Amino acid sequence: MTTPILLTPGPLTTSNRTRQAMLVDWGSWDERFNQLTASVCEQLLAIIDGAASHHCVPLQGSGTFAVEAAIGTLVPRNGKVLVLINGAYGKRLAKICEVLGRDFSTFETAEDQPTTAADVGRLLHADKAITHVALIHCETSTGILNPLAEIAQVVKHHGKRLIVDAMSSFGALPIDARTVPFDALIAASGKCLEGVPGMGFVFVDKQALSAAEGNCHSLAMDLLDQHSYMARTGQWRFTPPTHVVAALHEALLQYAEEGGLPARHQRYAHNCKALLDGMAELGLRSFLPAAIQAPIIVTFHAPQDPRYQFRDFYERVKARGFILYPGKLTQVETFRVGCIGHVDANDMHAAVTAIAEGLQAMGLTLSSIGAHA
Ligand SMILES: *Cc1c(COP(=O)(O)O)cnc(C)c1O
Repeated sequence: MTTPILLTPGPLTTSNRTRQAMLVDWGSWDERFNQLTASVCEQLLAIIDGAASHHCVPLQGSGTFAVEAAIGTLVPRNGKVLVLINGAYGKRLAKICEVLGRDFSTFETAEDQPTTAADVGRLLHADKAITHVALIHCETSTGILNPLAEIAQVVKHHGKRLIVDAMSSFGALPIDARTVPFDALIAASGKCLEGVPGMGFVFVDKQALSAAEGNCHSLAMDLLDQHSYMARTGQWRFTPPTHVVAALHEALLQYAEEGGLPARHQRYAHNCKALLDGMAELGLRSFLPAAIQAPIIVTFHAPQDPRYQFRDFYERVKARGFILYPGKLTQVETFRVGCIGHVDANDMHAAVTAIAEGLQAMGLTLSSIGAHA
């Protein structure tokens, strides 16, 4: 069986080298495994130029575990979070605050409207009780990019703390810890670094972390405890995701060989352009205007045709070798295609062909696909 190409924003398509790095079993006490972890953290910090200001704290689990850990560890129990929302992952931040019992307010814009720094300034001015602002960098539910650098400056100007979910942008879109102030920035192994899923990591401001004693409601989610233990012993506090760490280490070697962030960004931008151009030729419209579209994942309007069903479409495209992603919008019917992973523009051309064939096999003609445009 040939494995299909995942055009999903994590798990995503990984290279053979990365997969092969998982063929070794590591013991958690093994000195070489601990060196692997230390090397991964060091390389991750280098991507944001954060070694002087931030710790990298890895955490077992999917990305959301790390987001929850960051909020639980950094927001004091009497703190208040302003949650900026323009999609499902922003809503998840609010849900985390609710479940953790942290006071919060939300500011929601439409799914095709980035949050602006001016909005954030106004909201911080109006509510002095806010201690932290939580933002999604690239909102993966549409692919929209929020203006992180501008928002970070406003948050700092007001003397507040910023927590950034950069899960789907880290590694591909530039973020510089020396110029963008934040207390925590969260990402994971299985997104733009092209590792396998299974661990998140939080870049956390060194002072903010040492001031976080006693905040966390949870033992397993306490990033301060996780960091202190690792700093003391070189080991993970609880059973490490050994194969995931080994795969991420190998993926980071390939990241560097490719040319690091600029090269990764450029490949994804080419993927995104190949996809957008090809789909436009089929008459399929993207949901977001180009100016706010991150080269990570693209949301397309579903064809306006009663013969179109996502399930059926998915299966037909899968049979042609590509895995698509359902839409995540509440108001309009959409589907999504990821641009990230170990794929290039040729894969995107082939995916567009598979999509065209899949739609034709469902009885949709190219003219009926485009009829609504
Ligand atoms: C992938 C992702 C997450 C984490 O989701 P998990 O399912 O927990 O891995 C969080 N935020 C954003 C923006 C993401 O893209």
